[in-house]
Amino acid sequence: MTTHLFRDDAYLRSCEAKVLGVNDRGGIVLDRTVFYATGGGQPGDSGILEFEDGSTLGIATAVYDADGSTVIHVPAEGQQLPAEGVSVVAHVDWQRRYRLMRVHTALHLLSVALPFPVTGGQIGDGEGRLDFDMGEEALDKDGLAARLNEMASADHPVASEWITDEELDANPGLVKTMKVKPPRGNGKVRLVRIGETVDLQPCGGTHVARTSEIGTLALGKSEKKGKQNRRVRIRLTD
Ligand SMILES: [Zn+2]
Repeated sequence: MTTHLFRDDAYLRSCEAKVLGVNDRGGIVLDRTVFYATGGGQPGDSGILEFEDGSTLGIATAVYDADGSTVIHVPAEGQQLPAEGVSVVAHVDWQRRYRLMRVHTALHLLSVALPFPVTGGQIGDGEGRLDFDMGEEALDKDGLAARLNEMASADHPVASEWITDEELDANPGLVKTMKVKPPRGNGKVRLVRIGETVDLQPCGGTHVARTSEIGTLALGKSEKKGKQNRRVRIRLTD
């Protein structure tokens, strides 16, 4: 079980930690981490572990162990693995992570601008997509881009709050994504709120603190996926 520092503060770029062990596939377990582990359509962080002698070990990505809460730091190939009990400073690749945070938050706005059920999604480095069950509904791309940029530049605060499993079960309308399960654990679910009323939905990912940090968005190619689904892509323009 790893303490997930990224959950309370997405802006933490590094933390001190202890190596709890290396699993049989060479994945490194720390007692606490700033590395977001792959989940909810957001890829895991890359970065480095820095040792007391100044040497470093590259981390290719982070994933959850089978228990769903222990973060496995997956080293880039061909490196010497650390011993148990060693102290490290874990650093995420902040440039990449910050772009992922901006795209992730922008996808929340996309789910507001297109109020249809979300059937899938993917957050990438500088771009992302959501699949909507919107049938034959026409897609006004210029209007959609304008609406997204209007919401982003309105500088809405993005905050998280927690509710109980029972409260979520009593409010199923909060769940927009049919594929991504709400991030449950210890009887609590994390909700992400944008503005007072712009958006509120369960999410375990990392977000920017204010929507203006997203910058200007452009729409990418949209395409039909099956009979009902439309795939809509957005990207950062810087
Ligand atoms: Zn989110």
